[in-house]
Amino acid sequence: MVEPEPLVISGFVNAHSHGFQRALRGRAEGRDFWAWRELMLELAAEQTPQRVRMVYEALYREMRTAGYTAVGEFHYLGLPEARAAAEAAEAAGIGFVCLLSAYGRGGLERFRQSSVRAYLDQVEELRADGIAVGLAPHSVRACPVEWLREIGRYAELESLVLHVHADEQPREIEECLAEHGLRPIELLARAGCLGPRTTVIHATHADDNELDLLGEAGARICVCPTTEANLGDGFVPVERICERGIGMCIGSDANVRIDPLEELRELEGIARRRTGRRNIIRASSLLCFGSDEGAAALALERWDDIAIDLGHAALQGVREPDLFDALVWSCSADVVL
Ligand SMILES: [Zn+2]
Repeated sequence: MVEPEPLVISGFVNAHSHGFQRALRGRAEGRDFWAWRELMLELAAEQTPQRVRMVYEALYREMRTAGYTAVGEFHYLGLPEARAAAEAAEAAGIGFVCLLSAYGRGGLERFRQSSVRAYLDQVEELRADGIAVGLAPHSVRACPVEWLREIGRYAELESLVLHVHADEQPREIEECLAEHGLRPIELLARAGCLGPRTTVIHATHADDNELDLLGEAGARICVCPTTEANLGDGFVPVERICERGIGMCIGSDANVRIDPLEELRELEGIARRRTGRRNIIRASSLLCFGSDEGAAALALERWDDIAIDLGHAALQGVREPDLFDALVWSCSADVVL
């Protein structure tokens, strides 16, 4: 039998990864988010540039095999480790943007910069090395409001993307309300951090006003469904996001799973379970979320295409007009050649 020609499609873009968390696989089950975070912090403390170089190259090869051809690495382990991650990406042949995290308080000492100026100096060092960089105030938990203002201003001035975690867990919202009288995305808006180059990671518990603010600013949401499921974060309000025309992209985040098709399928699965309806997001739109929207979130102009094995068992008997539907609803990443 003649093997069918592969189907070439746009590569997937992983807009949110924490590479070192790959090593938590199988080690961090059975406890809540905050207990998981303790383990994650222990692991973060052990990282060295050598370790990052080795572990990230293997991880990025795993991503490449699964069809991700670019990754946004949300990085808070320090500058030598950021350079090691960029080298690992180069070796693995995956497009790379270092979303360098600003961390003003909490976490580990190695996450933190002494001032927002010291953070922006780090950003400029990496840019001078020729590494693609995005700004990443870690969260409203980790960044005081004056840091957010300064980073928002710099992003605007330099036309850089800005990524920030928000509304992943209810406790973070309660703490933000107690400190500022505002919810996290409201605070980001007030601090000048929302614009068309902004991507909010998670937004799991965003309320209508927060979503309105994202919609008005033209900002995106990066959803990380397999990680959000694993950590018990909750269900992202997919249908309310779609109603407002807010762009969505995907990320493998804690790297508990590396499968863009699974992330995309979950998005629609969540929407169906929440609404009791089907086809909230069409397969073609989901594929666009997985590639173009992720690329826009990282300001990528080019990223590699991928080839799909049309002779794969999962696609046997599928008619040509139904290929994209079958790809999204019925396949795993092993259909990528
Ligand atoms: Zn994250």
